[in-house]
Amino acid sequence: MAIIPINLQDGSLAKAADVIVGIDLGTTNSLVAYMKDGQPYCVKSADGKNALVPSVVHFAADRSVVVGDAAKAKLVSDPANTIYSVKRLMGKSYRDVAGLQGFFGYKILDDDTESLVKIRVNDRYFTPIELSADILRELKRRIETELGQPVNKAVITVPAYFNDNQRQATRDAGKLAGLDVLRIVNEPTAAALAYGIGLDPAQTETIAVYDLGGGTFDISILQIQEGIFEVLATNGDTFLGGDDFDQVVIGLFANQLGLSDADLATDKSLGQEIRLAAESAKKTLSGADEFSGSVGGKPVRITRAEFEKGIEPLVRRTLNCCANALRDAKIGTEKIDKVVLVGGSTRVPLVKNSVAGLFGKSPFDDLDPDEVVALGAAIQADILAGNRKDLLLLDITPLSLGIETVGGLMDTIIPRNSKVPGRAGRQYTTSVDGQKNLKIAVYQGERDLVQHNRKLGEFILHGIPPMPAGLPKIDIQFIINADGILTVRAKELRSGVAQEIDIRPTYGISEEDMARMLLDSIAHASEDMRIRGLLEARNEANNLLHAGDKFLQQNDTILSEVEKATTKSLLSALKSATETEDKDLIHRAIEDLNAYTSPLAHRAMDTTIREAMRGKKV
Ligand code: AMP
Repeated sequence: MAIIPINLQDGSLAKAADVIVGIDLGTTNSLVAYMKDGQPYCVKSADGKNALVPSVVHFAADRSVVVGDAAKAKLVSDPANTIYSVKRLMGKSYRDVAGLQGFFGYKILDDDTESLVKIRVNDRYFTPIELSADILRELKRRIETELGQPVNKAVITVPAYFNDNQRQATRDAGKLAGLDVLRIVNEPTAAALAYGIGLDPAQTETIAVYDLGGGTFDISILQIQEGIFEVLATNGDTFLGGDDFDQVVIGLFANQLGLSDADLATDKSLGQEIRLAAESAKKTLSGADEFSGSVGGKPVRITRAEFEKGIEPLVRRTLNCCANALRDAKIGTEKIDKVVLVGGSTRVPLVKNSVAGLFGKSPFDDLDPDEVVALGAAIQADILAGNRKDLLLLDITPLSLGIETVGGLMDTIIPRNSKVPGRAGRQYTTSVDGQKNLKIAVYQGERDLVQHNRKLGEFILHGIPPMPAGLPKIDIQFIINADGILTVRAKELRSGVAQEIDIRPTYGISEEDMARMLLDSIAHASEDMRIRGLLEARNEANNLLHAGDKFLQQNDTILSEVEKATTKSLLSALKSATETEDKDLIHRAIEDLNAYTSPLAHRAMDTTIREAMRGKKV
């Protein structure tokens, strides 16, 4: 089944294809592109100069939200309320990013190391999905102004290494911004499409996409066969990019001015001035042999040779990543047919020449390296819209497939528009001590609560050996075959007990029904997100209440009376918070409880270890 041509304004099945836009939702900058007269274009700012929208969100004291250049301007003056690099947090738990708090100028919340990160702004808590939705709304607004018509469908790009959680988070952000996300496309795939690579189904080739942006470096090796892109290997460095080149220049300038790091840290405006001068010098050196300017009224200068000497170790690091990717893909550079450059920092001549040297061929660099991913996303969108009759549309799943999890939430396992045949899986665990059976209820649809989706069937996994909650590992696999039959298989991995059912998801549902379900999901996205946020906060709180009671019981002799009483009162405050509809209140109560009890927990642990060691020879 092809993409359903649904008109999201009134829910009717559209006859003519709507505009589908391509969006590059980047770490530093984002862009939106669309097809005009058969060619992809990036939407520019009102002055017609810049297509880049900084991926920065600022919250003002009056709770108003701004995105883009205006928000970026607040990075220095109001860092606690200015959120950048949120893409680094998409689909991540606090544990995944625990080492990174120092990188962010705003507060990432660590109330539960296993659950997804939240960002605290004043007394409110946001998920990376909500913040990404703010950026997407701004892009949607831009393109709607440009086209003078509503835009509701998009293709969004993500790095090739994004896992299922990160991809699902990106889809959810789109939905929240009022966009029907037809497909999530890998950034290197989009970059290749922008150069027309992969559009000829008869051609088989292997390509390398070298993407050096402001803060991240990615190298992807792709194989393209019959129009299908397969990622052979990815490598990179999530903290390496043009910002590091700026640092090199800042160092040189500071030397010339006789300034130390401490001088720059204390005088923020001087620090900012030298940073801007350094970036401008770097950009100038992409086209000239030397740069001279001034900082704080004093002259600074740098030649291209000095710059290249300074950044050479950084460029070498990217080449090492390329070598690692090739090794993982088990191919030599001679097997790479084409090399594509992506990211603003590939404008640096040393970068371009080094890449050409490594692969032994001139890379594709005619298109603007900042725009190339968005342009390719627009081409992918055009293909999905059915405007390219020469290309085959693959069979896809028309609606998402998933299971019910705690609190009646829908957990999508195979997102809609996934290729058929296909498979995907995820691991779950139990929520009650000694739980022996687990009900697996399978649903179809796009809403966050299963009660609003279509139930396809359910079964019970019997015979899980009794274990404490959280210990069993239950693997659930969704396998959809070429005939569209879905097999749902559940297996407890420690004991091997297993159970499965077969379902035909498209049986008994019309295209109109599916269109209505899609429409409802967009119309209710904000409300659904609110309820999901509340239910997740409650689940987290309930786990913590359970753990807190256990902690008090087990450490009765270690804790003082005051500590016990304070912990109890924080627990009861959390309990009352869970009875409200206010997720921010629940998060605050969780944060207060954690802040108070974590030193106690450390002490209790130390005491227990000491007790255990006593009298033992070590
Ligand atoms: P991106 O994340 O792809 O938008 O890349 C932005 C990075 O490219 C920033 O570090 C910019 O300073 C850098 N950049 C933009 N233009 C140039 C240029 N002409 N020469 C060197 N670096 C540039």
